[in-house]
Amino acid sequence: MYGYIHSIETMGTVDGPGLRYVVFTSGCPLRCKYCHNPDTWDIKNGKKMSIDEILNDYAEYKPYLKNGGITVSGGDPLVQIDFVTKLFEEAKKRDIHTCLDTSGTSFSFKNQNRLEKFKKLAKFTDLVMLDIKHIDSIQYKTLTGGNLQETLEFLDFLSKEETYCDVWIRHVIVKGYTYKTEYLYKLGYYLGSYKNVKALDVLPYHDMAVNKYAELGLKYPLAGMEAMPKDNAKKARKIIEAGISDRIQNKTAQYS
Ligand code: SF4
Repeated sequence: MYGYIHSIETMGTVDGPGLRYVVFTSGCPLRCKYCHNPDTWDIKNGKKMSIDEILNDYAEYKPYLKNGGITVSGGDPLVQIDFVTKLFEEAKKRDIHTCLDTSGTSFSFKNQNRLEKFKKLAKFTDLVMLDIKHIDSIQYKTLTGGNLQETLEFLDFLSKEETYCDVWIRHVIVKGYTYKTEYLYKLGYYLGSYKNVKALDVLPYHDMAVNKYAELGLKYPLAGMEAMPKDNAKKARKIIEAGISDRIQNKTAQYS
């Protein structure tokens, strides 16, 4: 089976536990305003690679990838769910830790065919890094063009016994969009009811992709927006954690 691959990073340090072999797949249905990889959007821009090619290449780096494994990121890997499932199935046969980095886009409990595919994928996935881009559904649509419900249903799916996966949450803070006390707290309060959420990564918006957009002839959606200071990520994290803590202690939410 073949997949369409944007690129491979052999020593990833921020895409899951340990040092990781990171496969960036092509194709993404979202159009996040802060996306720094617009060159991954179109699946056709990817290089066709087989599962054997990827796993043989991984084997070359295996001695260096202590406590790590394979992470599939994107784009959004769920665009190529059959390929990722097969890759993870083969990886598990070789006892490789598997991590899926996604926004959960395209998940639905209602679509039975699709649900079966997700169940199969969950069987071979050790960890999901779930990017929740906004906790307000209207703002989510504005920021990404997508549907928040898909992300939240995916988190729910991963919390069920049959399809359980540990989840690390990722959240990017952007001025005027996600960097607001109310939204951050609400996100935390929502997450507080999920026992499979094991870690939280709050990332400050950066504007390093501006030149990439220019090279691709694309208009940069957040033109003029300043990069978010790292300290603000720490502040945001504290607010999210306050929401999580209130939820765990069954306190009434500070925002409805
Ligand atoms: S999900 Fe990721 S790759 Fe897709 S548009 Fe958003 S930031 Fe870009």
